[in-house]
Amino acid sequence: MAYDVVIVGGGPAGLNAALNLGRARRAVLLCDAGTPRNVAAKHMHGFASRDGIPPPEFRRISREQLQRYKNVEVRDTRVGSVEPHVGGFRVALGDGTTVEARRILVAVGMEDVMLDIPGYKELWGTSIYQCPFCHGWEVQDEPFGVLATEPAYLDYAIMVQGWSRDLTVFTHGSFEVPPEQRERLHHLGLRLEERKIRALHGKDGHLEEVELEDGTRVARRVMFSAPPQRQPELVIRLGLALDEQGFVKVNGMGETSVPGISAAGDTTTRMQVAVMAASAGGLAGAVMSHGLAMEDADRRYTAATGKPPPAKQKPH
Ligand SMILES: Cc1cc2nc3c(=O)[nH]c(=O)nc-3n(C[C@H](O)[C@H](O)[C@H](O)COP(=O)(O)OP(=O)(O)OC[C@H]3O[C@@H](n4cnc5c(N)ncnc54)[C@H](O)[C@@H]3O)c2cc1C
Repeated sequence: MAYDVVIVGGGPAGLNAALNLGRARRAVLLCDAGTPRNVAAKHMHGFASRDGIPPPEFRRISREQLQRYKNVEVRDTRVGSVEPHVGGFRVALGDGTTVEARRILVAVGMEDVMLDIPGYKELWGTSIYQCPFCHGWEVQDEPFGVLATEPAYLDYAIMVQGWSRDLTVFTHGSFEVPPEQRERLHHLGLRLEERKIRALHGKDGHLEEVELEDGTRVARRVMFSAPPQRQPELVIRLGLALDEQGFVKVNGMGETSVPGISAAGDTTTRMQVAVMAASAGGLAGAVMSHGLAMEDADRRYTAATGKPPPAKQKPH
């Protein structure tokens, strides 16, 4: 059987797309490899009605609610490849099966590349956070660090001061801080540390000290840091056009450079929070449903009249 849509990825973006498409009575297969970005985080914040929920619980409830829609199938499997096939795509799954689909939604998230600093990986998600909106409230007024590996993170550090005035900016020797910026940070009450970090020390996921290259230790409880990211390999293999920051290029409707393939969630944007990913997935699902309905209508019209469908109306 051919699915209307195969959704690749079962995070907030893919789950909300499945919900919208399911409710639109589309035949949907959602495939998830089970490696969400927030896997290290104990709680998810900033999602109205779900503030503070453990991420696995969010996915469990979402999947439970999808069970009502018998036209939506969920499989815990990786999508290995997506190839063009008559009128759509042929999709090879990690469980050894191959399915066909008229449309594909890529909701694969992004991969955070851990910095090569001892302790960084172990503390990621429990003491090292990428987003103060997600985790700042819980640790407010604690001794903070901001790992500023690019000049733009100096402004980010000033914003993070909103959650704690006890803040040290660590540049890890990544760039020369201009004198006027140094003076600005000083007057705003931020400490600046430009030595390289040798290691991050902590216990049970809790940061305790930042060790610098000369052995100096700075007591900190929390570090904000946005590590580099890379696209999951499927995105590269699909040949989707990327923007200058490496995110999948989509139009306002979630459509990519490849006809029939849409994308939503972290893979498309630097604005990476669950509620935005869910919203983008919902929109992409609705737009795909509209496109499928128009395609079906054209086919029915031609079958009934023997004529090609009239030219498309321009959207309002
Ligand atoms: C440590 C941490 C804490 C965070 N905390 C918060 C928070 O408190 N609040 C908040 O709003 N946001 C938070 N975020 C951000 C949030 O997790 C993301 O914005 C959100 O998960 C993005 O949803 P998504 O559906 O785009 O991707 P993801 O949730 O990453 O889901 C993508 C899914 O696609 C799957 N996948 C990838 N490739 C394939 C393939 N080939 N086949 C099948 N499946 C595939 C992956 O296994 C994964 O399950 C946090 C992020 C991190 C890193």
